[in-house]
Amino acid sequence: MTNWQADLDELAQRDMLRRLRTVSGIQGPRVVLDGREVLMLCSNNYLGLASHPKLIEAANRATTDFGVGSSGSRLISGSMELHEQFEQRLADFKGAEAALLFNSGYAANTGILQGLFGPDDLLFSDSLNHASIIDGCRLSKARTVIYPHADIDALGELMRNELPNRKGRWAIVTDGVFSMDGDIAPLSGLVRLKQEYDALLMIDDAHGSGVLGATGRGSGEHCGCLGQIDLHMGTLGKGLGCFGAYLAGPRVVIDTLVNRSRPFIFSTSLPPAVPASAIAALDIVESPEGAALRQRLRDNRERFTRPLLAAGCDIAGSQSQIVPVIIGSPDSTMQAGAALLEQGLFIQGIRPPTVPAGQCRLRGTVMATHDVGELETAANKIAETVQRGLA
Ligand code: PMP
Repeated sequence: MTNWQADLDELAQRDMLRRLRTVSGIQGPRVVLDGREVLMLCSNNYLGLASHPKLIEAANRATTDFGVGSSGSRLISGSMELHEQFEQRLADFKGAEAALLFNSGYAANTGILQGLFGPDDLLFSDSLNHASIIDGCRLSKARTVIYPHADIDALGELMRNELPNRKGRWAIVTDGVFSMDGDIAPLSGLVRLKQEYDALLMIDDAHGSGVLGATGRGSGEHCGCLGQIDLHMGTLGKGLGCFGAYLAGPRVVIDTLVNRSRPFIFSTSLPPAVPASAIAALDIVESPEGAALRQRLRDNRERFTRPLLAAGCDIAGSQSQIVPVIIGSPDSTMQAGAALLEQGLFIQGIRPPTVPAGQCRLRGTVMATHDVGELETAANKIAETVQRGLA
């Protein structure tokens, strides 16, 4: 009937087959993976909020008070108060007029770009943007110009070249923190260009929100230009420890998305427990506890990267808690990952299409809740394993 099995066999032959591993228990700095306890080095639960007692309590309370399900899409079944409370809170946090919840980061990026832009518009998209931005650009039907990663000069030239044919809206779209390289977008340069060319700037701060900046407002705060970003997309499933995503921006943009964004219009909204626990997460992010967690994360990141750099590992342009170790081929990457798992370290090998061919890597992520000694030992083992494989 099909040739799917042949397709899977071919992937396996090229060391490109993916398979799921089972985690039992909570997603902490150590997890039980396929029945064995290992150090977790590939979680986006950067601040450890996924199992924080205050988030659990908020989720339990919301479930008791408002039930498990939201009953439908907000335009059909009504917009629950908790969703609206979270949106107001998030808009205030980002210094935006309004915000809108989406069911995931993937749904947000596809739904925002599809809802706001069309065939007459022009999108400038960083070459390393997340797959959900790429798919959103496609769904929007806007012409998309891909600019070389984080290259302000190249982007400026591309924008200049497009000027004679200008029609419709222009927008620059970028990850705030790049998910596979851990570097931070050159936001000040992008702000300059968006002002010069009267374009909008949209950032996907999935990996920056709650984590970067003195008060956790994300990569915009980190780069000193939070107020100049037009469209703040972010996720709740990483630094904030919950699930779902949002866009914060001008009221007219939010109203447009309510009317045009297909993932918002045609999907059941998040369960009440999600906005409730996300509000609890923002309470922590904005408290002294949040500041202490961010400091701990920065310190842990420092202690994890030091042994890697000392051993000569290539951590690409990492400037954040995402720390790749570039290896190259899929087979040596997956072998290194398997050898490290044998030693009790769960660090994921990343292959195409997630990263370009020839740039396979182990992608390490650091958490504030990691034990610093364990991180240093892990970094030494990673460096040793990678160096042995490359030798
Ligand atoms: N944007 C970026 C930069 C991401 O890394 C991810 C998830 N890995 C997403 C969007 C999608 O978010 P979600 O997991 O909530 O769908």
